[in-house]
Amino acid sequence: MTEPLANLDGQILPLSQVKIPATDRGFLFGDAIYEVLRVYQGKPWLEEEHFQRLHSSLKAIRISGVDVDRLRERMHLTLRQSGHQEALIYMQITRGSAPRSHAFPENSKPLEFLYVQPYRDYPASMREEGARALLQPDIRWGRCDIKSTNLLGNVLAMQAAKEAGCVEAILYLPDGTLTEASHSSLFGVDEKGRLWTTPNNPDILPGITRLLVLRLADKLKIPVHEHSLNRSQLSAIPELFITGTGAEVMPIVQVDQQKIGTGKPGPVTIRLRLAYQEAVQEFLAGQP
Ligand code: PLP
Repeated sequence: MTEPLANLDGQILPLSQVKIPATDRGFLFGDAIYEVLRVYQGKPWLEEEHFQRLHSSLKAIRISGVDVDRLRERMHLTLRQSGHQEALIYMQITRGSAPRSHAFPENSKPLEFLYVQPYRDYPASMREEGARALLQPDIRWGRCDIKSTNLLGNVLAMQAAKEAGCVEAILYLPDGTLTEASHSSLFGVDEKGRLWTTPNNPDILPGITRLLVLRLADKLKIPVHEHSLNRSQLSAIPELFITGTGAEVMPIVQVDQQKIGTGKPGPVTIRLRLAYQEAVQEFLAGQP
């Protein structure tokens, strides 16, 4: 694989040469936020939405002094220099480096880091036939709406899913509420053809792909019920899928030992998956 190309505070270099101080607060405290963008044919997808969320995350954890427009220029420059066409861009901003002490340092300078790596897609068969997921307790904190690098709850859940041979971990609260998945948003389709998904609240990340899917549902006149599913509904729900920057729209056909619907991707999921692909094609057609 070609080496990912990075940008650290404006300096472009191969990812393996990036050095970050051990006193960086992102490393010591997870005092940092991040974004991940998908690049199709060299063009960053849903860029405006991702930068809006980045701005909200910075505001939410009170990191100031980041020139977001400059960061965006750096991202474009690094992407162009990388030459990657099908890629992922990872961007992280930390509160910077300072002697270790919990409260914010007086004068730290935020660290701005990003890299571009070639995108490796999921197997086509998984997109066509659907994937399996594992239920895991949602042990995360009370501000899952912030895209912070504090991801231990997500990491442990996804490791359990991986060990079970599953593509994702679907997270549930003590009352059975399904919030989202370890690194994706969650959708269901009920017997009336209505789309269910958790409303944006502190329990979930406001997914950019989730937002797009809701726009597509509106366009396709698919009714939407912004309400969380409960794990007790899994035995009767006809369709389930996850969404994310890399996953796009991925059908889930089994959760733990429970088959979902017919065990095959359902018609609403397929329509939305195709609509997603068309939206990407329309975007690319409109690009210079
Ligand atoms: N939920 C969580 C917890 C995530 O980590 C992610 C993406 O990383 C998502 C949802 C999907 O968000 P997006 O569609 O913006 O990639």
